[in-house]
Amino acid sequence: GNAIDEDPEESLLPRPPVVTIMGHVDHGKTTLLDAIRSAKVASGEAGGITQSIGAYQVTTASGQEVTFIDTPGHAAFSEMRARGANATDVVVLVVAADDGVKEQTKECIATAKLASVPIVVAINKMDKPGADPARVLNELMNYQLLSTEFGGDVEVGKVSAKNKDGLDDLLDKILLQAEVLELKANPNRAAQGVVIEAGMKQGLGTVATTLIQRGTLKIGDIFVAGASWGKVRLLMNHTGARITEAGPSTPVQVVGFDGVPGAGDVFTVVDKEETARTITDSRRKLLRENQAAQMQ
Ligand code: GDP
Repeated sequence: GNAIDEDPEESLLPRPPVVTIMGHVDHGKTTLLDAIRSAKVASGEAGGITQSIGAYQVTTASGQEVTFIDTPGHAAFSEMRARGANATDVVVLVVAADDGVKEQTKECIATAKLASVPIVVAINKMDKPGADPARVLNELMNYQLLSTEFGGDVEVGKVSAKNKDGLDDLLDKILLQAEVLELKANPNRAAQGVVIEAGMKQGLGTVATTLIQRGTLKIGDIFVAGASWGKVRLLMNHTGARITEAGPSTPVQVVGFDGVPGAGDVFTVVDKEETARTITDSRRKLLRENQAAQMQ
């Protein structure tokens, strides 16, 4: 069963949307992610953020939060889904205003539709002389994406990632789309989530950016992630500032792993160390068996 169904309705509280940016190569996915990060992540937060940790969260002008998976493209999205981690609530489809719908644009539309994840369109590169947003909207109609401008249900933002124009409007449109989804989670339970990326940091050992999907992760919690487990020693938010807990839709850097989890690994808090050991021992055994089988 789907773990999200296990929480009784009355325990559920609203949570921010989690967004993945997709689109054709060179249409500006990376530039848009960087632009939103640099323009919208609250200034004055500790450390500032200079480097990507795989996800970040912004606060909009209206005071609402939006979480972005900081890896553009649909490969990571599909990989996570294949492992049962449905991390994304809304896909932002970037289409360059001067280039229109291309091969990968179509693939992204198909991927999002297959996953039943709604699409918000960002028509990018509006600063370019050849920008033709009307043409883009027309092309998108061929893929059943009809803008609200024309009576459809697809929110469309026009942006220049390069000039950081239209970002607030795009964020508002993401929130409009999210509102329809009535996203909720129970914050008052053992945390569950998904590992977005993991690596080693000097003095800290494994640091894994984890997107919390339900529950609240706290210092001292014992967890399992893929074939590794650990006890939360330190939590840092997306800016590197130390925090004591992280709730639903929050990306958090977790320190305290024994081993290194993989991107897409499901992260689950368990009751005690013994449980964590038992689960990871059997997963490690299974991995070894699979590896041995593959070598034959
Ligand atoms: P990605 O492959 O989709 O991640 O695209 P990138 O973000 O790497 O951008 C591809 C190229 O388009 C880069 O040279 C960017 O500087 C440029 N670019 C991205 N956004 C804009 C924009 O809004 N306006 C203009 N003029 N160029 C842009």
